Amino acid sequence: MRFDTAALHAGYSPEPTTHSRAVPIYATTAYTFDSTEHARQLFALEEPGNIYSRLSNPTCDILEARIAALEGGVGALAAASGHAAIHMTVMNLAGEGDEIVAGNNLYGGTMNMFGKSLARLGIRVNFVDAHRPEAFEEAITDKTKALYVEAVGNPNADLADIEAIAGIAHAHGVPLIVDNTVPSPALLRPKEFGADLIIHSTTKFLSGTGTVMGGMTVDCGTFRWKDNPRFPLLNDPDPSYHGVVFADVPNNAGFIARQRALILRDYGGCQSPFNAWVTLLGVETLGLRMKKHSENALAVAKFLEASDAVEQVNYPALPSSPYYELSKKYLPSGASSMFTFIIKGGREAGGRFINACKLISHVTNLGDARSLVSHPATTTHSQLSDEQLYAAGIAPGTVRLAIGLEDIEDLYEDLAQALAESQK
Ligand SMILES: *Cc1c(COP(=O)(O)O)cnc(C)c1O
Repeated sequence: MRFDTAALHAGYSPEPTTHSRAVPIYATTAYTFDSTEHARQLFALEEPGNIYSRLSNPTCDILEARIAALEGGVGALAAASGHAAIHMTVMNLAGEGDEIVAGNNLYGGTMNMFGKSLARLGIRVNFVDAHRPEAFEEAITDKTKALYVEAVGNPNADLADIEAIAGIAHAHGVPLIVDNTVPSPALLRPKEFGADLIIHSTTKFLSGTGTVMGGMTVDCGTFRWKDNPRFPLLNDPDPSYHGVVFADVPNNAGFIARQRALILRDYGGCQSPFNAWVTLLGVETLGLRMKKHSENALAVAKFLEASDAVEQVNYPALPSSPYYELSKKYLPSGASSMFTFIIKGGREAGGRFINACKLISHVTNLGDARSLVSHPATTTHSQLSDEQLYAAGIAPGTVRLAIGLEDIEDLYEDLAQALAESQK
């Protein structure tokens, strides 16, 4: 199936009992066993099937199969949030004494998890310049379990050279994890450039309407876990499943099988079937929406670039962007809708701009069908001095936009009046 067809059909055909055309919400905690022998086989992973909804649920299974199909993966695992997906993926790779090499431009929440909470577990994340692939190579040690980048950095929409970083990862026998939340598979399929594992906050564009939390890990089935000395967890017989060796799972889907069978079982961050169902509704229109999100965002970026009240616009599809060449390679059909611009007049002008926006909502989110705006210097980063802000790649006048699906003329009108207000 091609992309738009898979977005509507992958993972589900009308089930034989009710012939329901739409995906049902399987609101159930548990599933009946045919016999004690059947139950034994399920618990031993000898037979596929549902046991308990912390481990698997038919509605979540369909969402997992659909996103795996859109990303070209061999399997996927839904999680309660994007952060739950990131955390479980790391827990499936690394433990005390292990290391991860990550870009230094990640979503703030991921920076906190990696820099502080994982450190408390004894997992060390080395943050490197995401725009210098060699920096990843320099930071790899024999303890490194993965390289981690965002396809499009949040908030500044800066691009990492995924293919170059994947080449470095594989030369060292290390997998590359790509957070593909901002482009979504409609605009970028990181597997085509060498990613081994893909992360989504489905809270954003995949659900697409700012309604439900969710996360996803996609296993591309590309990484050779078998006999790789960095990964005893996948190569040693697992005592909790009668000695199963996850590196031997058919289709090279052992990583995601282990993440479900051990990590989701033990840590418990499963997705609600209702959230999976809402997300499936969003995924059905993903291709259409990402096209319109990208068109609207490019138009707004050009509009802002032409304004006297704006110092700089950071949108990779603008020829003025230092990421323009990379955007032609990685985002040829659109650069998604989240980006920043720097308003003239610093913190105060930024605050006045936000307060003056009427149609565009002041929230901390992205990937909603409605346009959203935020001002890091007066909100998420308000405790930082100007110097600290610049070190984080943010200016006092940096405004982040996540452009929605509204009529572009209404967006121009709201932006024009708010820009005028900001300069008073
Ligand atoms: C929002 C976001 C996350 C975290 O996802 P939640 O669903 O909020 O837990 C991770 N990465 C990126 C790029 C995000 O934008």
